[in-house]
Amino acid sequence: MLSENKADIIIIGGGIIGCAAAFEFSRAGCQVILLEKNQVASGISGDSGGLVRIFHTSNHAAKQAAIGFDYYQRFQQHVGYDCAFNQSGFVFISSDDISENVLQQINSYTIEEHFTKRIKPEQLPVELNIPHDLSIFYQPSAGYINTQLACKNWILAAQQCVKPLKLAENTQVERIVIKNNEVQGVKTTNGDYFAGHVIVTAGAGTKQLLTSFSPLAEKFSLRAFQYNIYHLPRRVVLPAIIHAEADLYIIPQQETIIAGFLSRDIHIQHEEPALSLSLTNAIHHAINKLLPELNWISEFITSKISIDCFTSDELGMVCAEPNIKNLHIATGWSGGGIKAAPAVASKLLAMHTS
Ligand SMILES: Cc1cc2nc3c(=O)[nH]c(=O)nc-3n(C[C@H](O)[C@H](O)[C@H](O)COP(=O)(O)OP(=O)(O)OC[C@H]3O[C@@H](n4cnc5c(N)ncnc54)[C@H](O)[C@@H]3O)c2cc1C
Repeated sequence: MLSENKADIIIIGGGIIGCAAAFEFSRAGCQVILLEKNQVASGISGDSGGLVRIFHTSNHAAKQAAIGFDYYQRFQQHVGYDCAFNQSGFVFISSDDISENVLQQINSYTIEEHFTKRIKPEQLPVELNIPHDLSIFYQPSAGYINTQLACKNWILAAQQCVKPLKLAENTQVERIVIKNNEVQGVKTTNGDYFAGHVIVTAGAGTKQLLTSFSPLAEKFSLRAFQYNIYHLPRRVVLPAIIHAEADLYIIPQQETIIAGFLSRDIHIQHEEPALSLSLTNAIHHAINKLLPELNWISEFITSKISIDCFTSDELGMVCAEPNIKNLHIATGWSGGGIKAAPAVASKLLAMHTS
């Protein structure tokens, strides 16, 4: 057995959850191997909008998001490097009847300092065409991170710990090796790796890794999101927007924006879904209605599909496999993996040490 193939902990999957966990465990003094079938953050995490906000209608989501929000604000302090948090603000737009309900839920948990307040359409950037009969909530402290930078810097910091993280990219885990109901390690396309503790953070690959032996596999489904990417003209400073009435979300990034529908995801089995031209056009139409002063279609870059895994309750999963010792599984909740990552990583560490 080669010593470089042996560690205290193997983490499968170098998305935002796996990278956050790799840092957390390395900082706690564990020898960690992170196995990634492509490159770090090459999956859905690298494509993500990276929006970090606290405004959520589920208590669970809001709590995880609050932890993530504080963590990303102080990323430099925690990690020693930057995650490029950009405070764009976040706007939620809905009809009055939805908003009363939403507001009641938010008031039951929202942390005072991040309070989301009601604002008037004229307080928004002039480019936004919001009918006056809609309710608008604004969380000025929200923003987005550079997810690729966050992953890269978690890895960099973990590689500088007392027991430096070992990262193996282009290494696909084919199966988890189990003996007498205990994990032994994993078999990969680049040979075997050994550890007494394995954590699966493989995003959409999680279900497949668990299918042959774990009842938890049934709890995961795959969902494809289609979204458009546009150039963000420098003259416009946009907040991140969820427009519940138009079913649209818009997340600004450095020079681009991601726009897509909230509820038109495609549930899939295994095969990659094809891009739908009618969905691309429907997003064009919705975004042109919201931002009529900007000629988005001429600034259109591309449409993309990302595949996310989600749990049946949509709350994500951080748990121990019930029948196998020292096998843990972690996902963020759907559409919220970025916000959830710091909370998920610290829960994994607490599970390991308890
Ligand atoms: C357009 C879009 C916008 C989004 N916006 C936001 C947002 O604003 N805020 C937010 O909080 N969330 C957002 N999300 C959701 C968020 O991006 C995801 O929930 C999160 O990135 C999932 O992270 P992950 O680490 O679980 O999975 P992934 O990023 O998919 O990472 C899993 C990794 O495991 C690897 N892998 C899989 N199988 C194997 C294997 N067998 N062996 C080795 N490696 C393997 C994959 O290559 C991948 O790199 C958005 C998603 C999309 C698509």
